[in-house]
Amino acid sequence: MTVAVVGAGMAGAAAASTLRAMGFSVEVFDKSRAVGGRMSSKRQEHGYLDLGAQYFTARTPLFKQQVEQWLATEVVTCWPADCYKYELGRLTASADTTSRFIGNPSMHTPVKALLAGQSVHLNCRISRLRFVSSGLQTQTEAAGWYLFDQHNNSFGPYQALILTLPPVQLQTLLATTFMPAEPGYSDIHQLITQLQPQVLLPCWAVSLQLAAPIATAADAIFVKEGNLSWLARQNSKPGRVNKADNWLVHFSAQSTAVHLRAEPQELVALAKAEMELIFQQTFTVSNATTHRWLYAQINPAVSQIKPDYHAGLKLAFAGDWMLGGRVENAYLSGVAAAREVSADV
Ligand code: FAD
Repeated sequence: MTVAVVGAGMAGAAAASTLRAMGFSVEVFDKSRAVGGRMSSKRQEHGYLDLGAQYFTARTPLFKQQVEQWLATEVVTCWPADCYKYELGRLTASADTTSRFIGNPSMHTPVKALLAGQSVHLNCRISRLRFVSSGLQTQTEAAGWYLFDQHNNSFGPYQALILTLPPVQLQTLLATTFMPAEPGYSDIHQLITQLQPQVLLPCWAVSLQLAAPIATAADAIFVKEGNLSWLARQNSKPGRVNKADNWLVHFSAQSTAVHLRAEPQELVALAKAEMELIFQQTFTVSNATTHRWLYAQINPAVSQIKPDYHAGLKLAFAGDWMLGGRVENAYLSGVAAAREVSADV
């Protein structure tokens, strides 16, 4: 019994690892050249820079148990950040005492650990799927799922499929695959319609390396006004070996939408100006990196949908967006999808 999992972010990795622990054989596919999805970090001369998820929390017993294991094996570590809030023009210490965890040495390390020893196809964008039902199988084509990549290479058949793509990519893949008269068409067509409002919001990430450290006790700041939403001193994270003062800035979703097609240097200048306002100090940027996330985080104004497992197609879905964003939810959705598949086959 082999199951295909599309997406090697936290949801796909959790699904693959759960299935493997239950004795299934699994193949994972991702369009990127590395695993991790939105938990990606950029390797730099002086260690990793976290561009997407900055940390994660653990609230449910299942995920807490997983985090305990990761802590014991040093796959993750605690980030005892001094958090601040910037609001009404004032920077104040936050009373929040949440435990924050980060991958060690990079945010994608826990995803890598879940996928260790598994068959993972990277640089493999799945652009089409084909389901052959047992009634339609032929001598040359066995029943199951077939996956096709951007070069039309085919993989399969697989006895079940778990899709962990963000909603826009999922919608495109399903629409390309399911034509009228194919099995499951009406259910999947309904799902495609439900996915339409589930667009993840964009986010510009800018990293500023400073010529001299900013005089502040803050390691991280939740920014409630202006163009930014988050600042984090990357060198305050254990295991990030960059000794220079390096700040990672996330723009708010609204500001990112306004500056979606702006040149990276405009974002660098804007991030620097707003940071100078927040810290009431001027500084010199010695190095900058930018990354534009087109699909970053769920839109809180849209209520989540959780697509059902489709027994007829042996098709399950996972992804943070089904449970409300966040790394923990991606993990939980992946485990749930693996359990749906295992209960059915
Ligand atoms: P993804 O990580 O998006 O994985 C989906 C994978 O599918 C990707 O690797 C992608 O390459 C792949 N894929 C897509 N289409 C195809 C295709 N056609 N074929 C093959 N592969 C495909 N969460 C927190 O808990 N704390 C935070 O502080 C936090 N901050 C964040 C900040 C930013 C800027 C961003 C972007 C996210 C942040 N998040 C945070 C959210 C967190 O990163 C996500 O909840 C989590 O990583 C989602 O995992 P996932 O597996 O559901 O999706």
